Amino acid sequence: MMTDTTTTPVPDLVTPSWDYAPAPEARGIATIREHYGLFIGGEFVDPASDASFATISPSTEEHLAEVALADATDVDRAVAAARKAAKGWQKLSGAQRGKYLYRLARLLQERAREFAVLESIDNGKPIRETRDGDVPTAAAFLFYHAGWADKLDHAGLGPDPRPLGVAGQVIPWNFPLLMLSWKIAPALATGNTVVIKPAETTPLTALLFAELCQQADLPPGVVNIVTGAGETGAAIVAHDDVDKVAFTGSTAVGKAIQRELAGTRKRLTLELGGKAANIVYDDAPIDQAVEGIVDGIFFNQGHVCCAGSRLLVQESIHDEVVDRLKARLQTLRLGDPLDKNTDIGAINSAQQLERITTLTDTGEAEGAERWSPDCELPDQGFWFRPTVFTNVAQAARIATEEIFGPVLSVLTFRTPDEAVAKANNTAYGLSAGIWTDKGSRILWTADRLKAGVVWANTFNRFDPTSPFGGYKESGFGREGGRHGLAAYLAASDDVEVSR
Ligand code: NAP
Ligand code: MG
Repeated sequence: MMTDTTTTPVPDLVTPSWDYAPAPEARGIATIREHYGLFIGGEFVDPASDASFATISPSTEEHLAEVALADATDVDRAVAAARKAAKGWQKLSGAQRGKYLYRLARLLQERAREFAVLESIDNGKPIRETRDGDVPTAAAFLFYHAGWADKLDHAGLGPDPRPLGVAGQVIPWNFPLLMLSWKIAPALATGNTVVIKPAETTPLTALLFAELCQQADLPPGVVNIVTGAGETGAAIVAHDDVDKVAFTGSTAVGKAIQRELAGTRKRLTLELGGKAANIVYDDAPIDQAVEGIVDGIFFNQGHVCCAGSRLLVQESIHDEVVDRLKARLQTLRLGDPLDKNTDIGAINSAQQLERITTLTDTGEAEGAERWSPDCELPDQGFWFRPTVFTNVAQAARIATEEIFGPVLSVLTFRTPDEAVAKANNTAYGLSAGIWTDKGSRILWTADRLKAGVVWANTFNRFDPTSPFGGYKESGFGREGGRHGLAAYLAASDDVEVSR
């Protein structure tokens, strides 16, 4: 491919011009208990079987805590607590329910540093992101839904919107607290009670959130948090007295849940995987686009369902974009998640690291060209260098499968039609990005992309007012905005609910 000779030369950023002194955030603010129970009926209780599992820090492999492993008996207890609480919770006025959500939001803000540090330790993501992204966005979701609680009658959701009852919710490890807020806030605002399971590798911020529920005097049983692995999640999904299942996770597990719930009265929303195209047209502001590409795929180590993992760049600017991107990637700092200068933290688990390694190996085997910046990896913990693949064939596994790691596949296109065809050539449909100088081109392209969210000249922006969700194998149902409320409310002719 030819480089356009009129473009400005790529700056030499290969060697950063200064060093950063370590700037570690103090971890003392977060107290980690040796052992955590289940949060059922407003209290921490022991599991029926006394079984537990360990959660570790992925950046050091340090053992952090033993966490109760909930089995079907414990899930039954949690669902019973949620059912018992449902009547009283539904009877409260919307303003009263809103009051509790406002309390939770404010308490989360007050204890934001504690949550940010704990999330970085348990998940491995940089403190810069937990401090400026995960925690404030989680609080924003709680505030936003607190505001809806007393306005449901005027939301255009029918004359008498009624809660479904008990929501069973299962969430992944990539944004543990944020996903918890996306699930709990709309459920509570609409008068439902919940049983939620955080992921096995990242239970700690959910358990700290349980303390917030106590601090906010939330009526016992409105929020129940059961910890465990896939089997605990499966027990929630299968429980007869759960009225609605909300699942965020992999497409494979989402499909199994959909099969299981087919023909039952349970309502279901699925937020699954993605393989988003980030389209860069030749008239794009290139430096901004490069920042957007970096945010799109290297944010949160690429553990992002809506990550811009497929870069579609117009052929005439391919070499310039790739050169600038590589120069920018040389400046990213990988290491201690608690260091305020860190851009790239640890991979969440040994298992995820293995998956990323296997898939990237197939990339090379299938003929793509692999590149990573020179950066040292710490000796302990789970780490993966930011990686860019060029010369990627459309059918290659790295262009079709979700890697869920800091790995970008670069493909090219010549015309807008080709860009759209390639962007939509995926089993997924969660998100997409467009970089261009022209508003008309943004609208033309966005209209043709089959993706739940399309960002233009930005990427990975989240706002509680904006519904988020997918098409095709990315799932169905929306979270956020008015659409997200509808997922927790019954139509007025639905006789199955509000017992
Ligand atoms: P996962 O394996 O599907 O796990 C997600 C959650 O489901 C975890 O809590 C997991 O438990 C639990 N689980 C596992 N098997 C289950 C079963 N048979 N029944 C019920 N629950 C079960 O996914 P993951 O690898 O943790 O998460 C990454 C995936 O989530 C990616 O595909 C990503 O794209 C997707 N994701 C989607 C969104 C979105 O909004 N669309 C957002 C974030 C992530 P344990 O992990 O504790 O064993
Ligand atoms: Mg952990």
